[in-house]
Amino acid sequence: MTETEIARGAPLTKGGAPFAFHVMAKPTGATCNLDCEYCFFLSKEMLYPGSRFRMAEELQETYIRQLLEAHTRAPEVVVAWQGGEPTMMGLPFFRRAIELQAKYAQPGQRVLNTLQTNGTLLTDEWGVFLKENDFLVGISVDGPREMHDAYRVDKGGKPTFDRVMRGLDVLKRHEVEWNVLTTVHAVNGDHGGQVYRFLRDDLGATFIQYIPIIERATPDTLQIADTGWGSGVHGRPLYVQDGSLVTHRSIAPEQYGRFMIDVFEEWVRSDIGTVFVQIFDTALAGWYGEGGGMCIHAETCGQQLALEHNGDLYSCDHYVEPGYLLGNIGDRTMLELIALPQQQKFGQDKRDTLTQFCRDCDVRFACNGGCPKDRFATSPYGEPGQHYLCPGYKDFFHHVQAPMQAMCALLRDNRAPSDLMAAYASQDAQRPRNSPCTCGNGKKWKHCHGAPAGLRDQPAR
Ligand code: SF4
Ligand code: SF4
Repeated sequence: MTETEIARGAPLTKGGAPFAFHVMAKPTGATCNLDCEYCFFLSKEMLYPGSRFRMAEELQETYIRQLLEAHTRAPEVVVAWQGGEPTMMGLPFFRRAIELQAKYAQPGQRVLNTLQTNGTLLTDEWGVFLKENDFLVGISVDGPREMHDAYRVDKGGKPTFDRVMRGLDVLKRHEVEWNVLTTVHAVNGDHGGQVYRFLRDDLGATFIQYIPIIERATPDTLQIADTGWGSGVHGRPLYVQDGSLVTHRSIAPEQYGRFMIDVFEEWVRSDIGTVFVQIFDTALAGWYGEGGGMCIHAETCGQQLALEHNGDLYSCDHYVEPGYLLGNIGDRTMLELIALPQQQKFGQDKRDTLTQFCRDCDVRFACNGGCPKDRFATSPYGEPGQHYLCPGYKDFFHHVQAPMQAMCALLRDNRAPSDLMAAYASQDAQRPRNSPCTCGNGKKWKHCHGAPAGLRDQPAR
């Protein structure tokens, strides 16, 4: 079963558990060597006062055994390591994980390890290990230096760009498979094309995930959030999904739409089939009638869970908070916990609590109302529970509608979606240089997506 199938809601066993699910394991809990200003997860340390934040050997074995045994019907199981910063566990922990996977792998089962890291602790020793064991590594980069360093700082508030680039060099040197996770926020949010070109051209990224930063706040938490957290995690209040305000670091709804359209206009002309942008793949799957590859744009969810360092299993990485604790895998198996009615309801609620405005929406099949954690806006019908990014989602999905339909037509014709690039090239050749740019940002074509490569990141005229 693929991750896409998992994301769009895999079938359930008789006991109510899915045949496949995805767990983000946090072996160091929320502990991290950095102090990114927008990180919602750092404050989760407060859930475990006095903890050493290290997954014990016994629990590591329980986790891997349960995960592999739960996937007897799946040809591939993904073991996802996340944080906090998982590399802080050190290499011996991960070497042992590989041994345990060999011990508990089911006949014919392939195990894929993924590691999401800030990259700053990677050394050649890590590079050798990650390559030898076929890890897929996600590295967090928010764009060129000044955009990356705006919020991705260390415990002393120092920039991290150079250290991340050194970590990426380790991955490249050892030919480790890697991809980029880029958050989209107030600082890089007006520079979609520039960020994309940096990731593609300067870093050589071929798989990119964009994650919008939406930091919810209440009137009480907004002030502390906006003026800075003070020194490290101890200045942060426990982050929970509450409040209908957002911090100044958060992306604005229409800004997010413009960012993704800016990227799309670049990608659709030159990179279809060579650079994979997660939301574009998801949108294409939606138009093709296959459902999405990202849980946030799937009809239902609930099969992407989070495992804390002590074995506590939560409904989702974004809901590591007391009300969403399912139990501890030392007491009950993961399968039992996932089958709990509360978890099934959690996943179904994504569809069942959609506003009427979403139900009436012409791009609902692709968007599906976004992630419930961000549904704190009011819909144009006056309903609570609308996704904060809705205006941006609508702009983006409407903008890509015609090219998505064209790519679907190519697929049904047994042709490659990348054939669309030739159609774009021929239309662009006829396009008057002074006409408005196709991205809709108000600039002239010749100064925007029609500008020669190398001149596109010049200031707007
Ligand atoms: S709550 Fe949001 S992030 Fe979590 S599984 Fe559902 S859609 Fe995905
Ligand atoms: S674009 Fe807006 S109205 Fe349409 S499904 Fe998405 S969130 Fe709902």
